[in-house]
Amino acid sequence: MSTSERVTWETCPTCGRCAAVGWRDGIPVEVDCPGGCGLTAAEFTGRTRPSVLSSSVGRWTTAASTWN
Ligand SMILES: [Zn+2]
Repeated sequence: MSTSERVTWETCPTCGRCAAVGWRDGIPVEVDCPGGCGLTAAEFTGRTRPSVLSSSVGRWTTAASTWN
């Protein structure tokens, strides 16, 4: 079972589809691409620009703050 604390949809660096990315402490720990890329979290991190990673967390924070 996953221990991810949150999940966002990110562009897969391999195929460009929307892949489900599980995050923990701001770091991708799980990637599930519908295209069957089999991308690991480490590969996703290594192939995705840091600015994208930080903005993902920022988007989540912004979204969460509106959930009243
Ligand atoms: Zn993919």
